[in-house]
Amino acid sequence: MYLSSLKKVDIEIYEAIKQELERQKNNLELIASENFPSLAVLEAQGSIMGNKYAEGYPSKRYYGGCQYMDVVETIAIERAKLLFHAEHANVQPHSGTQANMAVYFAVLNPGDTIMGMHLSHGGHLSHGHPASFSGRYYKVVPINVRKKDQLIDYKEIEKLAKKYKPKLIVAGSSSYSRVIDWEKFREICDMVDAYLLADVAHYAGLIAAGLYPSPVPYADFVTFTTHKTMRGPRGAIILCKKKYAHLIDRMVFPGIQGGPMMHTIAAKAVALKEAMTEEFKLYQANVLANARILAEELAKRGFKIVSGHTDCHMFLIDLTNFKITGAEAQNILEAAGITVNKNSIPYDPKPPAETSGIRIGTPAVTTRGMRQKEMVIIAELIDKVIRSRGSKNVVSLVKNRVKALLEKFPLYKELSD
Ligand SMILES: *Cc1c(COP(=O)(O)O)cnc(C)c1O
Repeated sequence: MYLSSLKKVDIEIYEAIKQELERQKNNLELIASENFPSLAVLEAQGSIMGNKYAEGYPSKRYYGGCQYMDVVETIAIERAKLLFHAEHANVQPHSGTQANMAVYFAVLNPGDTIMGMHLSHGGHLSHGHPASFSGRYYKVVPINVRKKDQLIDYKEIEKLAKKYKPKLIVAGSSSYSRVIDWEKFREICDMVDAYLLADVAHYAGLIAAGLYPSPVPYADFVTFTTHKTMRGPRGAIILCKKKYAHLIDRMVFPGIQGGPMMHTIAAKAVALKEAMTEEFKLYQANVLANARILAEELAKRGFKIVSGHTDCHMFLIDLTNFKITGAEAQNILEAAGITVNKNSIPYDPKPPAETSGIRIGTPAVTTRGMRQKEMVIIAELIDKVIRSRGSKNVVSLVKNRVKALLEKFPLYKELSD
């Protein structure tokens, strides 16, 4: 058994993985936080590097035999610093939530006040939502976008900051489609002597390519996930100023994590190398162009884009004028082979399990090779399904067109047996 293939040892898991591969191949993936990493990333992530305990940091490990761990982690750190022009990088966080936790724990005490965007205004659970540790350990002053144009209201944030004196402001979002003014956030933080954490989980790939403003010059701490626009393995990275390096490193390990996932760190290094290429820059430019076109094409067909348009890889659609909830839209689109997620919109009257919106992103379809022409088709297909409210005929028709479209953009051919 020890030397047998997965198929021989565990047919149930083998089959589930195979079916998931088919699902990924045969559905139009528009979830803004998902992507398809390269075979090289997958190879590193599935490697024997995960066998090794390497608690600590390069040349300061608690276990013997870490020479290759040091090679890999040092390369990952140096590449992250180079790519994002950062003074220090910690590549060990297991996820974006852990990265944010490490920053909070490094500089805050329980009961301190933080400010972050409210979940339904684009914030992440880890930005102070009551269901998350971040909302339970800290007093949270939520930031809302402006009602009239759904944009961040820096004047309002300044007012709130002066009133509540937060010790840290977290700026960053999972669904805000517009440029975030990092310099403004810095100014506000300076007025009240707060730390600035920029959480660019979503925008990191665009930032690496120089297509979205970088918070690195302004923020004390920058966290980002490596599996979204960065197109690497699941995980996260923390960047910070040199003066906080020791504080952050100690809080990641031993503060909140144990041994690093060295297979994932190897894959992060590979993804960072890929992100330095012209090919990656071109990819990100296409992600951006595709998101703009898709939003425009949907707007032409009567869909309301939250805040009007997008400056990044994703956007929210407010479905209230179609009299359909986000949950319903997600379900009927899924039946047609189009994967999106329901998403609260600012000032959403509906609860998070229903929502009035969906979020759409182009990183995954762009990885498959789709361009402008395909975005027009996708807009037309989404429009058809939602307008028909999921009628059986339309759904089956669209499903066939999705299948035909996807056949022209094969995914992971090399992984089929
Ligand atoms: C995705 C995301 C995270 C973290 O995600 P994990 O699932 O914990 O890796 C953090 N912040 C923002 C803004 C995100 O969009």
